[in-house]
Amino acid sequence: MRCVGADDGAASYDGSRFRPAQGPGRVGGMSDCVFCKIRDGQIPAKLVMRDDRCMAFDDISPQAPVHVLFVPLQHIPSNNALTPEDRELIGHLVLAASQVAAERGIADSGYRLLMNSGPDACQNVFHLHLHLLGGRQLRGSMG
Ligand code: ZN
Repeated sequence: MRCVGADDGAASYDGSRFRPAQGPGRVGGMSDCVFCKIRDGQIPAKLVMRDDRCMAFDDISPQAPVHVLFVPLQHIPSNNALTPEDRELIGHLVLAASQVAAERGIADSGYRLLMNSGPDACQNVFHLHLHLLGGRQLRGSMG
């Protein structure tokens, strides 16, 4: 597997690998989407925050002491499906992540925000999400 050790950790959510979403790309819910199931309460997660546009929960396979995922409530498969109308939503995700970074006490020590898109980036859950990583010295290489 190309992405062992560098993936989202999301395959652990139900023990199977997630495929790119088939069919309609942007709908209120995808029946086979693990993040839509977390949103709908069908799969438990350690919720960090939730508002009318997004939710955040601890990654089940954390790659740093702080590893929180920020997920729009709307199913958007990846960055490739974003439209200009999503500008505010993406800004909302970044602001939510900045707030949680402060709440977790890593605002000054530093943290990383990243979004994986597509197979080469090891995106495993095809529901757009923003990673917040911090709590220790992160490695300098991002590729
Ligand atoms: Zn979804």
